[in-house]
Amino acid sequence: MKKRGQRTFVRFLLDGRWRFGTLAAGRVLPLRGSIFGPWEEQPPSLPLSSLRLGPPCRPSKIVAVGVNYRGHAREMGHSLPSEPKLFLKPPSAVIGPGEAIRYPVMADRVDYEAELGVVMGRRARGVPREKALDFVLGYTCFNDVTARDLQKKDGQWTRAKAFDTFAPMGPAIVTGLDPSSLLVESRLNGKKRQSASTADLVFDVPELVQFISSVMTLLPGDVIATGTPAGIGPMVPGDVVEIAIDGVGRLRNEVVSGD
Ligand code: MG
Repeated sequence: MKKRGQRTFVRFLLDGRWRFGTLAAGRVLPLRGSIFGPWEEQPPSLPLSSLRLGPPCRPSKIVAVGVNYRGHAREMGHSLPSEPKLFLKPPSAVIGPGEAIRYPVMADRVDYEAELGVVMGRRARGVPREKALDFVLGYTCFNDVTARDLQKKDGQWTRAKAFDTFAPMGPAIVTGLDPSSLLVESRLNGKKRQSASTADLVFDVPELVQFISSVMTLLPGDVIATGTPAGIGPMVPGDVVEIAIDGVGRLRNEVVSGD
């Protein structure tokens, strides 16, 4: 059930062009313009089941946060960080709902990581904590796919986090949510693997926007991947991984062999 002021934005293919739309009651109303600028609805609406959805936006960068749930810090044997631990995932890694995660030949272990994705709505630079949420458009499901063996081997995380298809996001961006206590879950082949509330975040969404925007300018459509809860684990080709967030939706992707 959506509350007043909440919208669900999707991006879909219509006549060979990617378009934004609003989703309600199983139907998508196309928009003229961009969800990051002026837009207007352009009827008629279309049944969601007839559409191919893509990632709900195209970020210029994805700023991800390591070790940001207490439970995950414990399972990895890390102490809690005193400041957010940032890394970047490239926009070339983004895929949408239903697209395949390709298992790289050079990796021996590839993990899912369920995360709340924060989608920026406005250019943000030096934003104070109290104003941080004014700069957020909405929230999406994010899978911070990670080649765990390469993360350990390299000593820094670029290769392990950056393979093509390692940033599934979607299926939608939902606005007007309170990000302080959303349930974040993952399922592997239908079995629940992760389940935690964003209330367990070490650094919450306003703190992350404040901290990151004091380092780099965030642009409309940029995504903050806020960290993963306990319960990470490996995937193999043939697996189906789902990330679900209360009020946001469910992101489903299959794993296939890379080449
Ligand atoms: Mg992560």
